[in-house]
Amino acid sequence: MLYDFKIQKTLSPKQKPDPEALKFGRMFTDHMFIMEYSTENDWHDGRIVPYGPIPLDPAAASLHYSQQNFEGLKAYNTPDGRILLFRPYKNAARVNTTNERMCIPQLPEDLFVGAIKALVSLDRDWIPDKPGTSLYIRPFIIADDAFLGVHPAEHFKFIIILSPVGPYYDTPGGGLQPTSILVEDEYIRAAPGGTGAAKVGGNYAGSLKAQQKAKDLGCDQVMWLDAIEHSFVEEIGTSNAFFVIDDEVITPPLLGTILPGVTRDSVIALLQKWGVKVSERKIRIEDVAKAIEDGSLTEIFATGTAAVISPVGKLVIKDKSLVIRNGQVGELAQRMYDTLSGIQTGTAPDNMGWTVEV
Ligand SMILES: *Cc1c(COP(=O)(O)O)cnc(C)c1O
Repeated sequence: MLYDFKIQKTLSPKQKPDPEALKFGRMFTDHMFIMEYSTENDWHDGRIVPYGPIPLDPAAASLHYSQQNFEGLKAYNTPDGRILLFRPYKNAARVNTTNERMCIPQLPEDLFVGAIKALVSLDRDWIPDKPGTSLYIRPFIIADDAFLGVHPAEHFKFIIILSPVGPYYDTPGGGLQPTSILVEDEYIRAAPGGTGAAKVGGNYAGSLKAQQKAKDLGCDQVMWLDAIEHSFVEEIGTSNAFFVIDDEVITPPLLGTILPGVTRDSVIALLQKWGVKVSERKIRIEDVAKAIEDGSLTEIFATGTAAVISPVGKLVIKDKSLVIRNGQVGELAQRMYDTLSGIQTGTAPDNMGWTVEV
């Protein structure tokens, strides 16, 4: 469906960033999309306006009780001049499973994707060209009822902002860089019945402390364990986790405490297509440690939109430090990264039908 959003263009376009010096999420394009919801009028008044601060009542429910959500995906320039989105309808579906959990009204999938297309199209000159760069898209919904009672809001804003981003890895040539990961055995990310499968800010606020602890111990990220036994692996930072053990690829199952990543789903589909055995099943950190020590574990990697594939080079479990593959990038991680980023940037054929042209 085509939407005819009102467009108010900026009168003072900003200077584009130096493509060599792009950082993640620090700079935003000239415009943003904004749309309101009320119980009387449903979603209405979708429009594109100059990027800038939004008026918000200090009593807005999202500021106090975190009734909100967010999504993340990217737009890429292809060498032949097209603009591609990667599986945006997966994000559109996920925003609604998040909405369902958070008592936020459903947002039509075509409206979600249509708004992204309209905004990206207007700010297309902001999509960087250098290999490894892209335009990060951040759609989010916030409750803005001016009422301090704890109840589901009746007014919301759906907003989309765009940020040109550089290669995730600042290695020469942007090559994959293995990370060191602290296995977190004190703090948890999500518990059964909680909001772990919803993409919401509250999950992130609660994870900052563990992230800080990992940094203090010289690690890049944490590996989250389950809330009850502190034994089963859940996620790696804000990414999904994959283990390669004895020619089987294992990833924790989606049982409510894990975010259903679009990258995770794509990795599973590609592995199946390649004839690699892939299992969604629970895996204990003790068994991961044993498999590293006896050599049957050959790779660990994390998956997510920001880095696509992030290989793990070292796992820190209490006072033990376990090195994986001598800290080198694994073959499967490299092949997966090359394949996925090839499809996303239009430099490899999209046999899966995943990309959507803007
Ligand atoms: C967004 C996110 C992921 C990755 O999802 P993608 O759709 O692959 O980007 C994984 N874990 C958490 C907690 C997330 O918020």
